[in-house]
Amino acid sequence: MTIRIALIGFGKIARDQHVPSIAADPHFELVAVTSRSGETADGVPCFADLGALLAAMPGQIDAVAICTPPDVRHAIAADALDAGLAVLLEKPPTATLGEIEDLVQRAAACGQPLHASWHSQHAPTVRAAAALLRGTVVRRLRITWREDVRKWHSGQEWIWEPGGFGVFDPGINALSIATAILPERLIVRAADLQLPGNRQTPIAADLTFAGEDFSAAFDWRHQGDEERTIEIETTTNRHIKLGDSGASLFVDGIAHPVEPRAEYPSIYARFAELVAAGQSDVDVEPLRIVADALLLARRTMVEPFVWTAGE
Ligand code: NAP
Repeated sequence: MTIRIALIGFGKIARDQHVPSIAADPHFELVAVTSRSGETADGVPCFADLGALLAAMPGQIDAVAICTPPDVRHAIAADALDAGLAVLLEKPPTATLGEIEDLVQRAAACGQPLHASWHSQHAPTVRAAAALLRGTVVRRLRITWREDVRKWHSGQEWIWEPGGFGVFDPGINALSIATAILPERLIVRAADLQLPGNRQTPIAADLTFAGEDFSAAFDWRHQGDEERTIEIETTTNRHIKLGDSGASLFVDGIAHPVEPRAEYPSIYARFAELVAAGQSDVDVEPLRIVADALLLARRTMVEPFVWTAGE
């Protein structure tokens, strides 16, 4: 059975990753897009919102992939589930834990598959790193996720609004990998957030977790090549380093062979499995850690952030 899918929100990630991944996967057919600006994929009908789409194409859609900013996803996903559609959520799945818990309950009540996708968990090294760490005791964890917000989020005002996650928008990718590979749960003990005086969300964050020496540093003010690494030492002195957002893996300093990156094709392969089985797959751990960090946060005001002309 071909899954007739619609993309809800047609921004950078919908264009760059969802459209080509759907086109390459024989389980799916892209049949519609919703976008307030009217942008769509070549030859694919576009509607202002999900309500207009459902009214115009009754019985012609099986699933939606929601690629809007997170703060508006709950209402859209709830409507889609109520309309009998399977739902794929971009990361982070919703703006709050309450919203995702509500969607899990709705999906179960109406028997529709719900998948909260975490693309970084599909990075080529994640399974190998999880296998290497299974049954070990971790002594040290160091997450470093530094990049230039101007390069990766040019003009995206929503990242600075409540529910926009700020530096946790990329940082949650690191947390999604860490929670997938670590043999134990990450518990936040302290969080230091740096907030531009004119913005609602952090531009940098330092987290300390329970454990001997577990920490994470996220920073959007970084210049030059991004640094997205996770380093782990076990009590048996094994040293594991995931580099380049999980595209490379070093074990005791030696490069581990890895497949090429194919995160979004892998997300769609998983979603096809879930739709076929009528099952949901929702991992809230990365979102739970960000929520805990925001609960415990000490906040420091830093200089205002303004886009430069043309951004
Ligand atoms: P984006 O380029 O700003 O696109 C978001 C789209 O959602 C916009 O084009 C907009 O389309 C639509 N939208 C915005 N506000 C909306 C609202 N209130 N109601 C309905 N639609 C709305 O953002 P993005 O980079 O694609 O990111 C979207 C999500 O994907 C984020 O959660 C992000 O974390 C995730 N993601 C992004 C990347 C990346 O590299 N960019 C990578 C992985 C995951 P219209 O104005 O046309 O409606």
